[in-house]
Amino acid sequence: MISIEFFGAAKTVTGSHYLVKTDVGNFVVDCGMFQGEDVEHYNLEPIEYNPADINFALLTHAHIDHSGMMPKLVKAGYQGKIYATNNTIQISTELLLDSAKLQENAFQRGESYGKYTGIRAIVYNTKDAMQTIAQFSAISYDDEFEPVPGIKVTYIQAGHILGAASLIIKVQDEGKEKTIIFSGDIGRVQSAIIPTFDQNLKLEPEYVIMESLYGGEIHIDRIESANKLITLIKETTDKGGNAFIPCFAVQRAQEVLNDIKKAKIGGALSDDLPVWLDSPLAQRVTNIYSQALQHSEESPFDFPNLIYVKKYKQSLQLTKKSGQVILAGSGMADGGRIMDHLATGLENQKNSVIFVGFQAKGTLGRELVEGASEVIIGTKKVRVNARIHHLEGFSAHGDTNDYVKWLQRFLSPNLKNIYLVHAEPDRAEALKLHLENMGINNCIIPDLKETVTLS
Ligand SMILES: [Zn+2]
Repeated sequence: MISIEFFGAAKTVTGSHYLVKTDVGNFVVDCGMFQGEDVEHYNLEPIEYNPADINFALLTHAHIDHSGMMPKLVKAGYQGKIYATNNTIQISTELLLDSAKLQENAFQRGESYGKYTGIRAIVYNTKDAMQTIAQFSAISYDDEFEPVPGIKVTYIQAGHILGAASLIIKVQDEGKEKTIIFSGDIGRVQSAIIPTFDQNLKLEPEYVIMESLYGGEIHIDRIESANKLITLIKETTDKGGNAFIPCFAVQRAQEVLNDIKKAKIGGALSDDLPVWLDSPLAQRVTNIYSQALQHSEESPFDFPNLIYVKKYKQSLQLTKKSGQVILAGSGMADGGRIMDHLATGLENQKNSVIFVGFQAKGTLGRELVEGASEVIIGTKKVRVNARIHHLEGFSAHGDTNDYVKWLQRFLSPNLKNIYLVHAEPDRAEALKLHLENMGINNCIIPDLKETVTLS
């Protein structure tokens, strides 16, 4: 018998964490952090099973909502291997150490865990993160391996971010081999900088567990969005303003750097235009991307007048200058160095703030894209005179069309159920309806903490 318990990312987006029990061994797929007001408190709850009963752990990709609670699992007693691609291990190493440090710093300052819990706690510290990193075990795409006899696993390209994978898992069950596919996060066919999933692949699994974040939605064209970004940068800096781009450290920062590089090569932006990457984490992740994607002498993310800002002191001096581009974290302007830039930069009507990602409720980014005329940053009231732009075509997640292309490779009479996860309920329902209109009627939207038996 095979069962799956959905400990996260079921009828919610974050906290990916699935426990799979079989007659030949037990394992988890992802152990991610819950993010957002309604779910953040789950991070503080104890693991609901005995980690010692787990034979191995599989990590689909480095994003913190998939990897961010692996140290909690390790701290609770999990001593086995955590399999992931080499690039996922490299990026996770940065993100987990960063996450531990943020918790330690907040605790030292007397603050509570996260943004909404109101409880002073550390879920894991740097030592726990280091121990987790020591348990990582690297695998290559398309190489089948057998973590325990009777379970075979293959990581395949998912697109999305560097190192991200979907998992093909073959389990011996009641004398028969059954195939389960976990999508992880699904990238776009129109992928920037990294390869997308292999559209020619054909498999006949019995079960699919798939992301449905953008169910029912179609993304704005990626190239159109890049062109708009460059136009906004040029308009702003030509008139002596600063263009602030709040940026996620993984994938988005690298995509924006690559777009700017192409614009500089093509002449749409001047080589003289200074571009500051003001995020130590994004700098380290960019170096990982450079090493992985560098096919020639030149990095896809390097160009004239790109400057890495190292020291916080140097960061604080930046807004005294004008006619420049500043990329800084966080992507939703709810922390990080971008806050200092916005605290001084928002009042100047020559400046622009260009958001290139999703802005969650309760973040400064969301307030700004919704047109706030005044915001509070720290204790300071700031008038919003700068122009605010929101470019929505940069998502690293697929849309409905991408999901269909991803799934079509696995449709056969063998397919018993498709479990839709990693989405708000209305998005999962929208994808279910879309698939039903195509004659695919075996979709299930599991509840958080629900256990299903695959029979
Ligand atoms: Zn992701």
